[in-house]
Amino acid sequence: MKKSLEIRSVRKSFGSNEVLKGISFRIEPGEIVSLLGANGAGKSTLIKILSGAYTEFEGEILINDQPAKFNSPLQARSIGIETVHQKINEGIIPGLTVAENLLFDRIALGEISRFATPAKLVRESKEILKELDLDWNESILKDDVFNLGIADQQLLLLARALSHNPSLLILDEPTSALSNLEVARLFKIIQRLRTDGVAILYVSHRLGEIDELADRIVVLRDGVIQAIQSKPFNWEDALHEMLGISLNDAQVAQDEQRGASVVLSIKDAQIFSEGKQWSLDIRGGEVTGVIGLLGAGKTELARALYGVDKLKSGTIEFLGESYRPKSPIDAIKKGIFLISEDRARDGVLEGWSIANTASLPFLKKISSGGLMNFSKETDLAKQMIERLNVITQSHRSTVDSLSGGNQQKVMVGRWLIQDSRLLLLDEPFRGVDIGARREIAKQIRDLAREGNGAIIFSSDIDEILESADRVIVMVDGDIKYDGYLSNTSRNEIIKKMSEVA
Ligand code: ADP
Ligand code: MG
Repeated sequence: MKKSLEIRSVRKSFGSNEVLKGISFRIEPGEIVSLLGANGAGKSTLIKILSGAYTEFEGEILINDQPAKFNSPLQARSIGIETVHQKINEGIIPGLTVAENLLFDRIALGEISRFATPAKLVRESKEILKELDLDWNESILKDDVFNLGIADQQLLLLARALSHNPSLLILDEPTSALSNLEVARLFKIIQRLRTDGVAILYVSHRLGEIDELADRIVVLRDGVIQAIQSKPFNWEDALHEMLGISLNDAQVAQDEQRGASVVLSIKDAQIFSEGKQWSLDIRGGEVTGVIGLLGAGKTELARALYGVDKLKSGTIEFLGESYRPKSPIDAIKKGIFLISEDRARDGVLEGWSIANTASLPFLKKISSGGLMNFSKETDLAKQMIERLNVITQSHRSTVDSLSGGNQQKVMVGRWLIQDSRLLLLDEPFRGVDIGARREIAKQIRDLAREGNGAIIFSSDIDEILESADRVIVMVDGDIKYDGYLSNTSRNEIIKKMSEVA
């Protein structure tokens, strides 16, 4: 059945923090609307309201012009709203097989018996997978879902959503883990659903994808709709609306430095399969800022340089020698350090002192014969606390007792006090207040001024303007611009970021 969706004056707060400030728009049957917004704009929160995950909010949701009230995801689903969430672990149920995951809702609703034979589950699953042209065999279907790769888990969630024949389909970054081939397959299905009259809300940061798929775009910033555009889209305007006006132009690189010696040289690199190839030199003495929207390939590049993943193609030289890291151990040995975007996983361990946390990656260096040199650990920690102005009682205080900004200072600072030759920082300022951001940025610049390489990867243009000397604009795994900040402007960078292939 065809259904329209209307969102009317929706407001949502977490405590005193209002993150949706009166959202209103409509999606007609057979229409694809794309929701665009920077990190933290409120996209996922809106989606959780529409999917029944959040029931506390102000405003109204109307389905076919009738106020709809649903108090759980199951109720939202029963009126035809299917959602594929951004975080895969919000949909995958660990401990069950692939088939059980595919059929989970139908098993939960009693449509399929909980005691159905594995053979029946496999048969039913294959029916669902046909929709997506997936031919997973019996042994995959009977395997623990945990053994599926991340792309296949994403496809599983899509297949499950489609198996309920939704009237409204909500996709939050559905292509982030998919290859080009899988994206093409997904697009075919989405086009078919549109023809069938399904209303689709599509969240993505890949402008090329949105350009191809969407009928309209809704641009969200800080919980407020900035603009709604119909085709053909003006991406430059959309990015300006999405990123907002810079509040700190005055802070831009007053002491821009240009490095001389090449530290790292990347040749014929390709980040995504079938993507374009490019070459790049990173110089010591300057801070290189790599800017790109979520999914542009920044994290992939950082991880390749750190030895976690490999580039799809290309060669890397570090200090004039071929560099082919098999793991971060190889990278760290050469003085290449990565501060990853995932601070929690990166080692804010509950109950650990600042000193312990700071020395964690360097235990070998500050111990001998298996014994820790505690005075050395203490010295390093005190040095770091002073240099980064970490607000704390003592180096023995636990890291989780610090504010977010000060935690991040410790996470960045522990690398800064070591001898690094190339520092890779993936979203180092996320969730950090502006004061901490400036102190961290200054330390990174100081480190580079000693002749070291430093690359900051960020999707926030103002962070790059404030901390880098040179800027590289990355779009869909390709480099669209490479130059010094004094030769370009915020507007020009946004224009390059909006270049849709
Ligand atoms: P987006 O999906 O556009 O990146 P989100 O909807 O995830 O944005 O977040 C919007 C804002 O709401 C952010 O400032 C975020 O920190 C805050 N937020 C999101 N979820 C919660 C939560 N469960 N509790 C408190 N604050 C939250
Ligand atoms: Mg989100």
